[in-house]
Order: sequence, then C-alpha cells, then structure tokens
Amino acid sequence: MSKIAADPSHPRYQSLLMRHRLEEARKKGMLAGSALIAHGRGEAFDYLLGEQTISSALIATRQALAHLSSAKHPVISLNGNVVALAGEEVLQLAYHLKCPVEINIFYRTPERMEALFNHLNEIKQQMGLDVEILGAESNARIPGLEGPRANCCKQGIFESDVILVPLEDGDRCEALVAMGKTVLVIDLNPFSRTARMASVTIVDELTRVLTNMNEILSSGENLQLTTNFQNEQILQAAFDHIGTVLTP
Ligand code: ATP
Ligand code: MG
Repeated sequence: MSKIAADPSHPRYQSLLMRHRLEEARKKGMLAGSALIAHGRGEAFDYLLGEQTISSALIATRQALAHLSSAKHPVISLNGNVVALAGEEVLQLAYHLKCPVEINIFYRTPERMEALFNHLNEIKQQMGLDVEILGAESNARIPGLEGPRANCCKQGIFESDVILVPLEDGDRCEALVAMGKTVLVIDLNPFSRTARMASVTIVDELTRVLTNMNEILSSGENLQLTTNFQNEQILQAAFDHIGTVLTP
C-alpha cells in the first residue's frame, strides 16, 4: 500500500488517512462509484459530533458487544467502505468474537468481489488471523428486498441471530430487523433510516468504534446486556450533542 503524504502531526491526519485508504481502495477496484459520497456524508456528521466518541456511543458500543458475545450465530457484514477503511480492525474483531465475516455488496461484480477478497486475505495472512470470510457464493435471499441486494449467504447473514452491519442501507436494515435479527449498526448520521431502524445504533466513526471494540474485548471486561436498553435514547443523546455543537 502506498504511503500517505501527510505527517501524523497534521491536525487532520486521521481524516486524511481515511481518504487515502479510500483512494487506494478505489485504485484496486474495491469500491462502487458512490463510496466516496457516502464517506463525505459521514465526515460531515463527524464534524458535528466533534470527531470524538460521545458517551452514548460508548454505551451503544458495549451493548453491541454484549449482543455479539452472547449470540448463537453472530456475523459481521462487510461492504467496500468497511473493507477499505477498517479491514484490519474488522478482522481482528471477528477473530476476538470467533465469528465469520461476510462480504455483502450492493453493486456486485466479479472484479470487485475478487479485489475485496484479495485485500482481506492479504491482511489475514499478514496478521495471522484465522477468520472465515464468506460471501463468494450467495445461496439465500433476504425476504422483502428486490433484486441482487437481497442476496446473502445461508450460513452467514441468513442464519445469523445477531448481525453487525457497519454502514448499512436503511431498507436493508429494516428487512434484517423484520427477519427477527438483532441488528447492530455503526452510522455517523443519527437521522438516517438505518440509525432509526436498528436494534442498536452506534453513532460514531467506523474505525474509532472497531478500535474501541477490540480494546474492550482485549481488556477482558465482563460485558452485560442492558435489558432496558432504549435505542431512541442513544439517538436522542446524539441529537442533543449535535445541538450543543450548533449552538453558538
Ligand atoms: P439510509 O439508507 O440509512 O437512509 P443514507 O442513504 O442517507 O441512509 P447511505 O448512503 O446508505 O446513507 O450510507 C452512508 C451512511 O454511512 C451515511 O449515513 C454516513 O453518515 C455513514 N458513514 C459513512 N462513512 C462512515 C464512517 N466512516 N463511519 C460511520 N458512519 C459512516
Ligand atoms: Mg441509503
């Protein structure tokens, strides 16, 4: 991977690093045309959150981990942006949780799938992580969705009870919830349909969330499901936080 030109002391280093990862991924054919637009919207919301993990996001992160740790068939669904921005972090998380990942992209072409598999397999080898990567063949469909966006793997997304889908699309999130799954999402936009449909919404930036998750799991912390968890309160806390940033 080519090196990023900016110095780590640059005040916008993290943001530049993420953009660099997307540029590299685009060159390798890993991304759909709309990937950079989705990222731009995320960046705008991250500004409004102060580019930090707010306390309600950390509560949602712990709740999501408690669900994943106690699941029978947990799975992590990956799209192009997730693989490009956080391939290492997401494989580390899957390794900690002993769960498979499934590459599941909307604009599925053999070239894109190959580029994504190659990238993840390279990381897997370099880091020596034994993680099952599903998605090469789709053999099941998510009910209620039209066309190729419904395709998934039977032994992955289809049969999962708990699914982490970072950066999910609103109607797919709704269809997964309708299947009776516990759907955990990461979305910087607390107003999106995804954020409002999910069982647990982590309103935070993808790489920050995955780093937090890996640190919490490595620390051996005892994760307990909060039985009266209210996702609306998590969203309200994010709205309130944005409100304080916008108030002059
Ligand atoms: P929805 O389909 O849920 O109604 P949308 O169509 O507005 O939302 P999409 O284009 O489907 O949004 O997905 C992009 C979403 O991903 C945006 O809401 C954006 O905030 C979020 N996003 C982009 N990059 C990141 C990131 N690095 N971390 C967390 N969230 C991100
Ligand atoms: Mg959408």
